[in-house]
Amino acid sequence: MGITKILIIALLIWVAFKVYSVIKSRSKNSDDIRLNKKIIPCNFCKTHVPIASAIKVNNKYFCSVDHSKNA
Ligand SMILES: [Zn+2]
Repeated sequence: MGITKILIIALLIWVAFKVYSVIKSRSKNSDDIRLNKKIIPCNFCKTHVPIASAIKVNNKYFCSVDHSKNA
């Protein structure tokens, strides 16, 4: 086996590793997106809002700042 073949194999392993880490980080990001799309009810008026736009006070979620004051 020549040095060129060894270098090509090393390069293929490196590329495979890079592709694997990109896929891994992408699946993590899609988990985050899924989490942000989670709908939770406001603790005051029970309106359902996406968790990303909800206001969290004392481990309770609210649809708006006004309702969070009623915590
Ligand atoms: Zn509310």
